[in-house]
Amino acid sequence: MSFVKFVVLAGGTGGARFLRGLQAAAPEASITAVVNTGDDVTMHGLRICPDLDTVMYTLGGGIDEERGWGRAGESWTVKEELAAYDADPDWFGLGDRDLATHLIRTRMLDAGYPLSAVTAALTDRWQPGVTLLPMSDQRVETHVVVTDPETGRNRAIHFQEWWVRHRAALEPSAFVQVGVDDARPAPGVVEAFAVADAILLAPSNPVVSVGTILGVPGLREALLSSPARVVGVSPIVGGAVVRGMADRCLPVLGIEVSAEGVGRHYGARTTGGLLDAWLVHTGDPADVPGVDVRSLPLLMSSSETTAAMASAALDAAGV
Ligand code: GDP
Ligand code: CA
Repeated sequence: MSFVKFVVLAGGTGGARFLRGLQAAAPEASITAVVNTGDDVTMHGLRICPDLDTVMYTLGGGIDEERGWGRAGESWTVKEELAAYDADPDWFGLGDRDLATHLIRTRMLDAGYPLSAVTAALTDRWQPGVTLLPMSDQRVETHVVVTDPETGRNRAIHFQEWWVRHRAALEPSAFVQVGVDDARPAPGVVEAFAVADAILLAPSNPVVSVGTILGVPGLREALLSSPARVVGVSPIVGGAVVRGMADRCLPVLGIEVSAEGVGRHYGARTTGGLLDAWLVHTGDPADVPGVDVRSLPLLMSSSETTAAMASAALDAAGV
């Protein structure tokens, strides 16, 4: 499989685990991960890129495996000290080790480096074994329109505030990509699609991970003009999310929380959609017209099953 090139659209945890499986399934391949940056946020003056960091730490061996985010062997001294000052926001977990990443990133961004260059510098240390690209160098931040329980009025809050602070308890009525109109695909993204042998949609959140990436102007068009086949992997297993909040996001866009619902939402490439093939979990019904639907176990519970998922995706891509 040498010189084979894959591009994966990825969010955080689902994306990172799938990428690890792909590396195991195709150790010689050159993999480019195009990662969602809509979750990015500035806290205490520091620029934080949760999905990029989850992928970087997971593939670089620095992730806290149990939590699924942040650094292994983490301590929380700075967080405790900030709390002693009553410093807002107090609901976002910033570990001491993790802080070093955000300090360096922020310093480089302030010095004028684009996020793609900053990400490349950070991966020098972590050696994730994939080319890690942010979807865009421009800031795009997902906001969630919710009804304020106190005033009864609608307001938009940052995705992190909705998810981490409110644990997705506030009913969302829309997801808005603030800044998306001025965004362009990051350097390398369009080029990666053009030379790809397969393009894979990781089992990531279809709305706030994959959907956000595809919302970057020009990115979807570049993906669709690739000669490579496009294969998606369902993040919905047995009609439910495995972890995360996709079940709170999908209904907002009128998408059924099922492998079929998400498959139909992505749609067949032959009819203006994205997919050539769609992988669903064994037993999950999914009739997606115009798409080659394949069933197999899709729980990334062991490295073997995850690698088998990636192999099946490559198979469906004709690689
Ligand atoms: P986030 O940025 O950390 O929320 O992660 P992603 O967007 O990359 O992935 C979240 C999605 O991954 C959720 O919708 C989950 O249902 C899905 N997911 C997590 N673990 C698994 C798994 O083992 N198998 C499958 N098929 N999907 C998974
Ligand atoms: Ca995310």
